[in-house]
Amino acid sequence: MIPLETVQQETEKKVSPDFVRISMASAIALRLRSGRFSRDFEFGGINLLLNYENGCLSDCGYCGLARTRPGDYEDKSFIRVEWPMVETDQLIDRMAEHEDKLTRLCISMVTHGRAYKDTYDITKRLRAKVKTPLSLLIAPPTLNEEKLQSFKDLGVDMIGVGLDAVSEKVFKQHRTDVPNGSLRWDNYWNIINASRRIFGPWKVNIHTVVGLGETDLDLVDMFYHLKDNEILAYLFNFNPEEDSRMGDWVSPHITRWRRIQLVKHLIENYNLQKKDIEFNSDGGIERISAEGNDIQIAIQSLDQGLPFMTNGCPNEAGTEVGCTRPYGSYRPSESFRDFPFQPETDDLKLIRKELALDELIK
Ligand code: SF4
Repeated sequence: MIPLETVQQETEKKVSPDFVRISMASAIALRLRSGRFSRDFEFGGINLLLNYENGCLSDCGYCGLARTRPGDYEDKSFIRVEWPMVETDQLIDRMAEHEDKLTRLCISMVTHGRAYKDTYDITKRLRAKVKTPLSLLIAPPTLNEEKLQSFKDLGVDMIGVGLDAVSEKVFKQHRTDVPNGSLRWDNYWNIINASRRIFGPWKVNIHTVVGLGETDLDLVDMFYHLKDNEILAYLFNFNPEEDSRMGDWVSPHITRWRRIQLVKHLIENYNLQKKDIEFNSDGGIERISAEGNDIQIAIQSLDQGLPFMTNGCPNEAGTEVGCTRPYGSYRPSESFRDFPFQPETDDLKLIRKELALDELIK
């Protein structure tokens, strides 16, 4: 029998489903924290994160929540910013009050034995009071087809998967196993493919990270694979988390990052063919042949900055990005790696320079 003392301690702990963490940007948007963004823009994407005393059982080399990263789980940062803890029901009431300003909700699971049950519970509570479209950023080791279907039945409209590493080699290098042995490349793909079957075309997205040791060719191959399968690719810029196993790695060079953003946009929206991208012997993008008229215009105008905006799940009308995650790919003190709003004239001037555009286009 569990001693009463332990039960009391457990119930007093601020864990999911009764507590969740929310991103600092979400806390500011819901007026739960004071603060301002460095530039003025509308923000209505609310990101929730499950919270457990023993945290996430995965141990990924780049992640702030990794099991072996020093420090208490509750004090750990995630994508380098603080995630305040809030009571779930109070948060949902607050969301209901601000519903007209909300553009997308998302619950991020972690790898934990209770993650499915608690995500189900929170989703149910949320759907009862707030109608804003809801995504789940799932933890594949905790799921199967039946559980995915149960999320869909509750009204979840999109599924995100933090694959992060775009090649099996890089995945194995940085993502270590969890106790039940299910943090595996093939298991991730089984769950991605099951999600695609259950949720339908363009309702599943894969988070892909630039800077984990992959080549540009790996990224480009992944963009084509996902497009062919009607799965969305969302881009993230690696930024080292202090004290993580990759704490001394550096962020990808800005020129590489901008070129990947541009090439991805051209593949997805202008049908840029792989034969028109030249790679060097290390798999890096060297040149793009901008033969098609539309491609030329898109490159010369930088498509009004669209390639450099944050990738994320859409708003209800499907017309704009609903989840823009300010500071998801850079620190608040740094310039925008991806823009949660359409870049302005001065931003585009800088981007053009960062791309070294004249050297890229032939
Ligand atoms: S893009 Fe945003 S809403 Fe969509 S799965 Fe990723 S974190 Fe969630």
